[in-house]
Amino acid sequence: MTQHVVYVVGHMNPDTDSVCSAIVFAYLLNEWRKRGGLIKLDKEAVPAIQGEPNPETKFVLEKFGFDVPEVLDDAEGKTLALVDFSEKSQAPKNIDKAEVVAIVDHHKIGDLTTPNPILFVNFPVGCTATVLKRLFEWTGIEIPKEMAGLMLSSILSDTVIFKSATTTDLDKEVAEELAKIAGIEDITNFGVEVKSKLSAIEGLSARDIITRDFKDFDMAGKKVGIGQIELVDLKLVEGRKDEIYDEMKRMKEEGGYAGIFFMLTDIMKEGTELMAITDYPQVVEIAFGKKLEERSVWLDGVMSRKKQVVPPLQKAFEQV
Ligand code: MG
Ligand code: MG
Ligand code: MG
Repeated sequence: MTQHVVYVVGHMNPDTDSVCSAIVFAYLLNEWRKRGGLIKLDKEAVPAIQGEPNPETKFVLEKFGFDVPEVLDDAEGKTLALVDFSEKSQAPKNIDKAEVVAIVDHHKIGDLTTPNPILFVNFPVGCTATVLKRLFEWTGIEIPKEMAGLMLSSILSDTVIFKSATTTDLDKEVAEELAKIAGIEDITNFGVEVKSKLSAIEGLSARDIITRDFKDFDMAGKKVGIGQIELVDLKLVEGRKDEIYDEMKRMKEEGGYAGIFFMLTDIMKEGTELMAITDYPQVVEIAFGKKLEERSVWLDGVMSRKKQVVPPLQKAFEQV
């Protein structure tokens, strides 16, 4: 890797926004530099990524004709611009031995500090790409069609097609403007296409499906496991439910669990089918006010394990 460039990089465990925004911000910095931009960079900006892109990001890059950026895992002696984070814990190693010249983000401000003033733009919106869109307008630089596609994809990904509680009116407004530039007519359809890439479960075993995002909890001294998969349509998993339930039983026996719960979250219908196998089936009714029908229960409006499933289950287990 050369030292004569500015690496534009997003956070660890890269998502679509952190990769696409790195590509787009690198382009913006280069165009801006030609016009004598606000930050006097004499180096070319180059996008980078910390690790492997996920299947959703790969789809988006391919669709709009971009290569996966080069991997950056050690920041020592390098010049960096950051997108989609400002936490040291999400940075490449030796971030303290790097020079950070710009940050564009949409999160809470992290713990990175700089010795000099830098370009730092953070909006409380749903996506870094939304912030970048406003930077294009401010600088007067035109957004190339393919880059508009990357930015739209990022917004749809981060906001879960505008359903996440983090979505703002600005995200929706910007997404519509980007869709026009990118020539995408049906934003929702395109969003479903993007999000469905992470819903892909073909080739995964039942155990893989359950454990891809699975956490153990101690609930009133009982060991409880809760997994979650987010799908654009529960039909995607319909034919696999028997197999999944059998595997949950097996995991319960093997791991000595008081209960295994598996959230099949439908991001379009905004609810969760909660599958449960537990020694205390009454916890479901205590927690959610609905009885378990054989092996599962539909919970309307429930999408978050952390906020909507763990706390009520915890309370319920304290009562049994
Ligand atoms: Mg992100
Ligand atoms: Mg983001
Ligand atoms: Mg995200």
